[in-house]
Amino acid sequence: MASLEGLIEAWDGEEVVVSFDESAGAWIFICIHSTALGPAGGGTRLKVYGSPAEGLADGMRLAGGMTMKMAAAGIPFGGAKAVLAVRELPDEAARRPLFLRYADTIASLQGTFWTGPDMNTSSSDMDTIAERCSYVFSRSEELGGSGNPGPFTARGVYHGIRASVERIFGSAELDGRSVLVQGVGSVGAPLAGLLAADGATLLITDVDAERARTLADGLGAKAVPPEDAIATECDVYAPCAVGATLREETIPSLGARIVAGSANNQLAEAADAERLREAGVLYAPDYVINAGGVLYGFGREVLGWNAEQIEGALSGIGGSLTGIYEQADATGTTTLAAADELAAARLAQASA
Ligand code: NAD
Repeated sequence: MASLEGLIEAWDGEEVVVSFDESAGAWIFICIHSTALGPAGGGTRLKVYGSPAEGLADGMRLAGGMTMKMAAAGIPFGGAKAVLAVRELPDEAARRPLFLRYADTIASLQGTFWTGPDMNTSSSDMDTIAERCSYVFSRSEELGGSGNPGPFTARGVYHGIRASVERIFGSAELDGRSVLVQGVGSVGAPLAGLLAADGATLLITDVDAERARTLADGLGAKAVPPEDAIATECDVYAPCAVGATLREETIPSLGARIVAGSANNQLAEAADAERLREAGVLYAPDYVINAGGVLYGFGREVLGWNAEQIEGALSGIGGSLTGIYEQADATGTTTLAAADELAAARLAQASA
């Protein structure tokens, strides 16, 4: 792993704010990848890493992805990510002071960086940040925020699955289509509910076997062991847990015709998009299909959208994917390349 200086010098982003919080023993990295489209937005990840450099590298990689996500979703925000790299996850007593000090750092950037929840952070942490500055999404609903984005990310994925099913099977109807949802947490569980309501044959898997079984029983779905997720024969594989499940070693055994889920960084490397195309699998680029949460947060908290406008934006994810699929077919590229081109064109237009 490169040093902090080496990572910062080699990065293609605009700015990295680094501070070390002595009291909590936490490194704070705010990675601002691009402000070409507007203030840079991205979640705050609280995590124990092997080294501070690993945390910084994670933040930089995720920030670049946020730039593409915002651009592809047509949101006038740039991309960023913050990482609080801690020695151990803080208890309640240590958590609040850490987030207040972190909020002071965000405030000092005067609106260049806006944040929201990510791994191990929640609406309640966003409430704490909001005590010091207003550059924050997804505060608790009781305090006027937009709350947990998971169900809205799920609704965007649902529309993305319908568009993908229509592309392959000629109809968006999910009745009788089989969908495997991998990971039934904040996104996967509501997604499973939407799919079941549409009559999909639902397969559910989670490393938390009890969680998978309880949900499967409630929805009339079948629970699948986690290790069987990739090879299970189905129409749609919806990864909603961890990244990099699609790799050179796993793609040949994939049992689905379509990959469409919420997980970030589903492909281990960009070449996996070509491997999926060669295998005849339709891949819904992750940063396009999983943008429902940011669309919701931005629409509700910045633009004051009502429920109808939010639903319009979430169903638009299906339309965006259809456009990307058509473009990929027309130019003989992967769906990922077509999505990247769309995002890059929006960024270039804004820079010009
Ligand atoms: P979560 O932590 O609420 O749920 C994840 C679920 O996956 C948990 O139930 C966990 O037990 C399970 N899981 C973990 N590893 C697994 C594995 N190897 N196999 C099967 N199950 C496994 O997370 P979430 O908020 O639902 O997010 C899911 C994914 O979607 C993540 O990759 C996240 O980055 C991405 N995402 C989430 C949102 C959002 O609004 N929450 C938005 C965009 C992207």
